[in-house]
Amino acid sequence: MSTQTDTTGRTPAATDHLVEVQHLAKSFGDHEVITDISFTVDPGTVTCVIGPSGSGKTTLLRSLNALEVPDRGVVRIGGTTVDFAGINPGPRGRLPRPQRAELMALRRHSGMVFQAHHLFPHKTALENVIEGPVVVQGEPLDEATARARELLDKVGLAEHADKYPFQLSGGQQQRVGIARALAIRPDLVLFDEPTSALDPELVGDVLGVMKTLASEGWTMVVVTHELRFAQQVADQVLFIDGGVIVEQGPPQDVIANPQHPRTRTFLTRLL
Ligand code: ADP
Repeated sequence: MSTQTDTTGRTPAATDHLVEVQHLAKSFGDHEVITDISFTVDPGTVTCVIGPSGSGKTTLLRSLNALEVPDRGVVRIGGTTVDFAGINPGPRGRLPRPQRAELMALRRHSGMVFQAHHLFPHKTALENVIEGPVVVQGEPLDEATARARELLDKVGLAEHADKYPFQLSGGQQQRVGIARALAIRPDLVLFDEPTSALDPELVGDVLGVMKTLASEGWTMVVVTHELRFAQQVADQVLFIDGGVIVEQGPPQDVIANPQHPRTRTFLTRLL
């Protein structure tokens, strides 16, 4: 693996993988959503997670930044490792302070782009983007503002920096969401079906921005139903069903030439 600084300005950690997930498991009540999932993500690569609705894709993604707390399993991102077997919410669902600190340490490695409705409605696009760097990371306002303007320019919204979310289309809102996720300088960007709530004519611009990020060397994990995007951009595809990874590999294998009958059935329904 190269240890050169990539175009995102960050130096990858001196290990083979940026992300290692080992034996992750998560139930909601009696419903076991993730049974046993392990995979790795290399720096500067795009991982697309595909699978039927309800198969646990979002739960898996949210586990990577501890928005969801798995029951078991280990997640390492960069130099932070969390063994979820040791993270036990008490009877009131509240975690002791050291365990909360562990989760926050994991969360700091990633920026998340949600499906929709995630911007602060009373803040402008620019204010949404500087919120994380200024409020959470304590970055000086002028530096954060300059960087936020660069990021809004990158996602094609330089002209819209002072608009409020309700003045923007759904696709523009998603692109603000992407700029906001990048603003905290994450090692990893997580996308949870970022185009699924958009009108079809708005999907292309968002996918276009994501392709640009991929070509710039950002490490991305993307839950998506956009098979063409996965085929064009993914380095690895994980097909999830029944709480496990049924098939994984490059898109030319998993999507173009799937080996498992469950993958074939899923893809046939989607195409
Ligand atoms: P996908 O992203 O593949 O559609 P999800 O991870 O959103 O799947 O959900 C997997 C299953 O877990 C679904 O049956 C969903 O209803 C359930 N689930 C997700 N989050 C919760 C929650 N907070 N409480 C209870 N059930 C949940």
